[in-house]
Amino acid sequence: SDAKVSEMIARVKADDVGFIRLQFTDILGIPKNVAIPTFQLEKALTEGIWIDGSSIEGFTRINESDMILKPDISTYAILPWRPSEKKVARFICDVYTYGDKPFEGDPRYVLKKNLEEAKKLGYTFNTGPELEFFVFQRDEEDNPTTKFVDHGGYFDLAPNDKAEDLRREIVLALTDMGFEIEASHHEVADSQHEIDFKYGDALAVADKVITFKFAAKTLALLNDMHITFMPKPIARINGTGMHCHGSLSKDGKNTFFDAKADKQLSETALYYIGGLMKHAKAIARLGNPTINSYKRLVPGYEAPVYITWSAANRSAMIRVPAARGNSTRAELRSPDPTCNPYLLFAAMIAAGIDGVKNKIMPPAPTDVNIYHLSEEERVKLGIEMLPGSLKEANDELLKDKVICDALGKHVVDNLTEIAIAETDDYRLTVHPWEIERYINNF
Ligand code: GLN
Ligand code: MG
Ligand code: MG
Ligand code: MG
Repeated sequence: SDAKVSEMIARVKADDVGFIRLQFTDILGIPKNVAIPTFQLEKALTEGIWIDGSSIEGFTRINESDMILKPDISTYAILPWRPSEKKVARFICDVYTYGDKPFEGDPRYVLKKNLEEAKKLGYTFNTGPELEFFVFQRDEEDNPTTKFVDHGGYFDLAPNDKAEDLRREIVLALTDMGFEIEASHHEVADSQHEIDFKYGDALAVADKVITFKFAAKTLALLNDMHITFMPKPIARINGTGMHCHGSLSKDGKNTFFDAKADKQLSETALYYIGGLMKHAKAIARLGNPTINSYKRLVPGYEAPVYITWSAANRSAMIRVPAARGNSTRAELRSPDPTCNPYLLFAAMIAAGIDGVKNKIMPPAPTDVNIYHLSEEERVKLGIEMLPGSLKEANDELLKDKVICDALGKHVVDNLTEIAIAETDDYRLTVHPWEIERYINNF
């Protein structure tokens, strides 16, 4: 409304903002932005700003590459690491196309659409991701390396080292940007860390995941370090996940809690788990979207390999944490932070809602450590595996009508193109492992 626009313009003046960045993400979840001077803000908020979308990954459609960015007022935030005079603020935008229609290749729109579908049944989807990352050294030429900056382990209270200070800086910056940080700690691997923030509505949380990643990477750069969210930067040690806790609420109440039920889990909770398990292979295309993602999904490193659920065991794909009441939730442990959070959450909602609508009961929970199951036992128990590669995951996506419909044709076509191109390029490369393995023996 006009009142909201003038309020926003007044706030930007009061905050001494000199530049405004209009931000959105491509299909890979990489943030893009265009900066406008503050006097253009009124135009941006009322009409939107035209951009050329033809060079944006997953946007390409040459015949209608002109697109409009419309800032979402609720995403206003000042970038705390930029100058404190003539500050830089950003808005996350929705992308529109000719005739003022939402662009179907805009990941944020895809998520909104799925949230609306859930809303029709009275549900809101809350999610809380746990972002892990490695902090590495930069070399003399300022290129990232895979050299550690610390040698701590899980929950270690390292002596005041460089990574600890960086983690503190990230937490403070994110807090300035409106995050409610819940915890931050050293992760299992050397130089691996985790910062957790409060769960919330999936749209706001997806926005926050994007902000988190670029804030963390920026602050690392400013401190001569490098943060990577790639899932398996170093072979044979723990990789990097983005566990996603999820629950469905109705009328402001968590529907997953049932005081009288077995494990105090409601039927809705079980159906949600059933839906996520049924669509797990397709969801992998969204939650594990890189070649490297599949090097994390191997036995022995706290990342899931099999499509199982459990209330106890951390080798399961879905774990139900012990908390009950309003905190009752299911933790999907397969995704990693290279995901596009908008598309991942859209797929999770579609899968969960499919479970609820069609009363998909999950199989019995698997409470043994499945890493130790023999192939024979696994097959006998009917336990299926997550896809083993990006190409396999994409094939599973194409077979899954519910998830394809949730994403829309534009996104599915683009994801398929990307999966094929990545797979081909990877196959055309000769890797150091091959040289080491074969150059002497053959
Ligand atoms: N890093 C592990 C993963 O890849 C998770 C470890 C943990 O949070 N306990 O998912
Ligand atoms: Mg954690
Ligand atoms: Mg963790
Ligand atoms: Mg976790």
